Amino acid sequence: MRRILPDLLSVAAVCVIAALLAVIIVFATPLQVIPVGGDAVTVGINSTYLDEGAEAKRIVFDYSDEITAQGSVNTAVPGDYEITYTLNGHGKTKTAVRTVTVKDITAPRLTLKGDKLIEMDYLSEYEEPGFEAADDIDGDVTASVSRVLTDVSDVDETGAPAVGKYYTYTYSVTDKTGNTAEATRTLHVNHAFSAEDAKPDGNSFICLTFDDGPSTEVTDKILDTLSIYGVKATFFICDYGEEGVKKVKRMIDEGHTVAMHTLSHDYSRLYSSADNFMSEIHRQQEKIRSDTGYKPMYLRFPGGSSNTISADYCDGVMTALTEKVHAEGMEYFDWNADSGDARGNGVDPDTLYQNFVNEIEHGRTNIVLMHDTDAKYTTAEALPRMIEYGLSNGYEFTCITDSTTPVHHSVNN
Ligand SMILES: [Zn+2]
Repeated sequence: MRRILPDLLSVAAVCVIAALLAVIIVFATPLQVIPVGGDAVTVGINSTYLDEGAEAKRIVFDYSDEITAQGSVNTAVPGDYEITYTLNGHGKTKTAVRTVTVKDITAPRLTLKGDKLIEMDYLSEYEEPGFEAADDIDGDVTASVSRVLTDVSDVDETGAPAVGKYYTYTYSVTDKTGNTAEATRTLHVNHAFSAEDAKPDGNSFICLTFDDGPSTEVTDKILDTLSIYGVKATFFICDYGEEGVKKVKRMIDEGHTVAMHTLSHDYSRLYSSADNFMSEIHRQQEKIRSDTGYKPMYLRFPGGSSNTISADYCDGVMTALTEKVHAEGMEYFDWNADSGDARGNGVDPDTLYQNFVNEIEHGRTNIVLMHDTDAKYTTAEALPRMIEYGLSNGYEFTCITDSTTPVHHSVNN
């Protein structure tokens, strides 16, 4: 018993000290009024605003019930409203303010009429099926809807989407407060004709021939268009690098004829002697064969067999070359229709198309001169229209084969 008493006394002392410390900690902690949900709130016009009140807590003591709120929010009228929270007693009076902003926070409803995917014929006019836009506050905002072609990388010379591609029209409308709604529509541009539904007259042919490729940009565009229409063509190619190998392989894989136009296209080198020309042709033939497994047997002379520039370098070289080519079992092709794309870079596609239409003739094989270089990008742009013209006017498109009657110009040197 005597031993227990002093122990109880010391336990009581510890309790008293702990209680004193707790009181000190509680009163040393600042008392704050804090609006629940933040001191800045935005609400929509005509919505129901329910104020969440404020809190004031100190450790385990909660004085929130004693807070009074002043101020009101009229959600029918846009603007900033203030609500003041006050806590009296417990030392100094504490206050906090919440700003409630009433504004239009709802984007207009934008509705597209018609289909979300529209199939279009190439060069046909796009007919907008229509749209509607209504805003909670601003009412009918249809007149403010804007429409843009989002992907404009593949438009053709008329600004119309290119054949075979998908495009997106993005519609958007913004209300007076800056809320934006968007909607999209996809366009798929079809060719109007294909090799399958063309009606050839049986004796009118077109061999499209592309010289000087492969090129970085234009080769694939030409090949894409040919593929869409199921049309085969002939490429008289020059030297090419690593990227070019893929393009030459693509030509072969897609059933086109790959033919030679010399590696260098350098008149002074090629036409300085028949041997120089032939050795370059042999090197080119071997390069294409080793790159692709395809051995080309047709060629086109740079400048054509009728060129007179060669006379500057070697007298009679074209006469010798036309014989040598045949002696080696090869064939050369000139042209009897000219797209005119060699007359400049970026020639208006309308002009190229018109040249093509004027130069081709029924009742023969038309070998059409065109070019595949990045400078001749308008050739690729005019191509779909040329093909559509040919298909819808009784022509059949073929690539050069052993059964193609060669077109030879008259040799002038
Ligand atoms: Zn050329």
